[in-house]
Amino acid sequence: MSLRNVVLLGATGSIGQSACRVARDLPDRVRIVGMSGFRNMPRLAEEANRLRPEVLAVPDAEAEAELRTKLDYAPAKIFTGEEGLVSLASWPSADMVLVAIVGTGGLRPTLAALEAGKDIALASKEVLVMAGEMVMATARRHGRRILPVDSEHNAIFQCLEGRDTRHVRRLILTASGGPFRSWPGEQLRAVTRQEALRHPTWRMGEKITIDSATLFNKGLEMIEARWLFDVDITRIDVVIHPQSIVHSMVEFVDGSVLAQMSHSDMRFPIQYALTWPDRIAGTLPPLEWAKLGKLDFEEPRYDVFPALDLARQAAERGGAASAVLNAANEVAVAEFLAGRIAFPRIWEIVAAVLDSTGGTAADLDALLEADREARERASVLARS
Ligand code: NAD
Ligand code: MG
Repeated sequence: MSLRNVVLLGATGSIGQSACRVARDLPDRVRIVGMSGFRNMPRLAEEANRLRPEVLAVPDAEAEAELRTKLDYAPAKIFTGEEGLVSLASWPSADMVLVAIVGTGGLRPTLAALEAGKDIALASKEVLVMAGEMVMATARRHGRRILPVDSEHNAIFQCLEGRDTRHVRRLILTASGGPFRSWPGEQLRAVTRQEALRHPTWRMGEKITIDSATLFNKGLEMIEARWLFDVDITRIDVVIHPQSIVHSMVEFVDGSVLAQMSHSDMRFPIQYALTWPDRIAGTLPPLEWAKLGKLDFEEPRYDVFPALDLARQAAERGGAASAVLNAANEVAVAEFLAGRIAFPRIWEIVAAVLDSTGGTAADLDALLEADREARERASVLARS
């Protein structure tokens, strides 16, 4: 039974808050030694006062000043800026870094943590979508692990039990289908921000909630799975499962399928990643089978939700195509949330940007350049 010292990047978000609860419930197993927050200083201070991490990171001096007025203890250090996140992720007393920053802001801290010899618990799927090959190679080079927190990948990780994918025929990602699962395609143009933010089964941050409504979330997860488990994209399938109880499945070459199930509460995969390879008796509620009644499965509507095919195409193209898809999607989602574009424009913009941009994944600079260019194109398209 060992205590894990964890740096939590994105403590104020949906995943970050669930992770704080796990740490509070398992004080003998998980100690939060560092935390970052971006906008919500009152919430960061509240968590920090409870868990007393040695170090904190915030975006700038103004946020630091605000945070200091709210802290009731003196941390060893408060880092600022993007460099501060890198310093936090490399903090000496940490064994593991839980990356729960939305978007690609988690990439540099993830690479820095691996280089400093930390294991990663990864919630931020955008990190692997943008730079999967590089991140996995960095982990291998430093002999570090990437433990998936995303519920689907955590499920697959549990089904594989640390074995490689030699005996695997397919990985099957489950998807709730989002709020528009059974809507007629032509009604999607009139979708409001509020309707798109009403997820049927999960409570999450805004960006991933919109991604779940377009099914880009599942598209990003296909690419994430491709890198995490080193499986060709042609062997990754998606099935709609509206109840979100089966979190994903592994089909082996003999036709046997293993699935992982639990309530749709991110504390399950977070706890598993933070305490792996142990299983800890905790406070999480088990499933009550007779109350569940039934579990449904259906084919995704690929024609109504083009995100899945777009993600598959990007993965097949390789190079910087996945980074381009991810960047264009981030911009389009922000434009939709700001009320400037209609819902279907999200995938129309992503498709157009993907068509018009190339780029290699030769190194980090090349990826960042492809990302920057894709963002620019997506912004132009959103305003046209
Ligand atoms: P969220 O919006 O609730 O929280 C995001 C966190 O990132 C906040 O702490 C915020 O302060 C921080 N942040 C935002 N922009 C930042 C920046 N530029 N620099 C540094 N920090 C920044 O998001 P979330 O729902 O917690 O999701 C976080 C990540 O986890 C996403 O990548 C998402 O895809 C992934 N994920 C979330 C869930 C979920 O249930 N919420 C499930 C699976 C995967
Ligand atoms: Mg997921």
